[in-house]
This record gives sequence, C-alpha cells and structure tokens, in this order.
Amino acid sequence: MTSLIDIKKASKIIKSGGNTFKLLDTIDLQVEEGEFISLMGPSGSGKSTLLNCIGMLDGFTSGAYHFLNESVVKMREKNRVKLYKEYIGFVFQAYHLIDELTVEENIETPLLYKKVKSSERKALVADMLDRFNIVGKKNLFPEQLSGGQQQLVGVARALIGSPKLILADEPTGNLNSNQSKEIMALFAQLNKEGVTIIQATHSEENASYGSRIVNLLDGKIVKS
Ligand code: ADP
Ligand code: MG
Repeated sequence: MTSLIDIKKASKIIKSGGNTFKLLDTIDLQVEEGEFISLMGPSGSGKSTLLNCIGMLDGFTSGAYHFLNESVVKMREKNRVKLYKEYIGFVFQAYHLIDELTVEENIETPLLYKKVKSSERKALVADMLDRFNIVGKKNLFPEQLSGGQQQLVGVARALIGSPKLILADEPTGNLNSNQSKEIMALFAQLNKEGVTIIQATHSEENASYGSRIVNLLDGKIVKS
C-alpha cells in the first residue's frame, strides 16, 4: 500500500470582521491508495472545506499535508497546480458543467488544461462517451440532460485525465435514488479499478459503498 495523503495536525482558521472561525481543527488523516472514504457529518461540520483543502483548491492555515510524499504546504503554487492536474479529479453536487459547452466539450476541458494534443483528446473523449453510454448525447448541452446524466458527464470529466484520486462533494445531493445508485455503482467500479475516492455524503447508503467512514463535527474528526 502506498500513502497517497498524509495530513497531520492541520487546521484552517479564517478571520473575518474581528472574529476568528476555526473551520478545520487539528485534522489527522492518512489515506492509502485504493481506499474509498466517506466523509460524514452535519451541515457546517467542515466536509467541503476539508475536501477543498485535500484537493488543493483551498489551503490549510497550519499543520502538515503530504500528497504522494510531497509537502503540499511548502510547494510553489505552480507545482501544486501541476500536481492537482495530474492526480486529482473533482465531482461537485451541482455538477459545475459549463452551460455553453456541449457534453463532448465539457468532458474534454481538463485535457485542454493539460495540453494534450487534439487527436489524443478526441480519442480519450470518445472512449469516455462510450464507457458512460452517452455517445448519443455528445452534442447536447447540459440543460438538455437530466440531473443524473449531467452528473455522469461530471464524473466523466473528472476521470478523463486518469486521476489517482477522485474527490466528490455530495455527488448525489441533487439526484433521485436510482440516479444516486448509478453514480455510486460507478464509483465502486472505479475504486475496484484502483482509483482512490473520498466523498462527502449525508447518506448512510452512499457511505456503504465505501471502505471507511470519517466523521466530522465542528471541524474536527471524531472517533467512531
Ligand atoms: P459542510 O460541507 O460540512 O456543510 P463547510 O466546509 O461548507 O461544511 O463549512 C464549515 C463551516 O465553515 C460552516 O460553518 C461554514 O459556514 C463555515 N465557512 C465556510 N467557508 C467560510 C468562509 N469563507 N468564511 C467564514 N466561514 C466559512
Ligand atoms: Mg458541504
């Protein structure tokens, strides 16, 4: 087993209007490659903040964070962005697809940022459309899709760059139960193929697809 994530005594404190908010409080979390973790806890407990810090979209204000044995805290911004692009895919509750782009173009976007060349991009996107059974939808725009289909596109986009880690923030929060099951089954399959997954969820049923539950309360990990 390889250590993917090693977080030690990490906190996130925000100062606003003379007040101090401790959004994350001395978090210790180790994640091995191949795990499927569910972050649970009430609204406001810090799940999104922790996912964003793990995903390098946000940063801890103190403590240590190593990703694949490299110190994320000490890294230059440029290298952090490189690490993010190479290893991490994000899935959001509200999909965050680009309305003006087709399904095909949405899935392709991470490859543009990675400067993959056109012929290779086309092949990778075609594979993904095929795998997710959405070839017939490739020229449609997000608003022409159901929520479940939009989230499939969201997952396809997260996966297109072959990330080691998928971070999913309440990925089924806007979906009905059949659509949720489809997304969770997909995550279980990806995890079987070796992708590490960390999802924030309120749902015990969603959590049951994972291999470990981490409970948060008031920015702290509580022992279960
Ligand atoms: P969760 O995803 O578990 O619902 P969040 O990580 O979104 O929790 O938020 C944790 C807490 O931090 C909440 O109380 C939220 O209101 C607060 N919070 C989040 N971002 C900020 C911010 N930029 N400034 C002040 N408080 C914030
Ligand atoms: Mg949240």
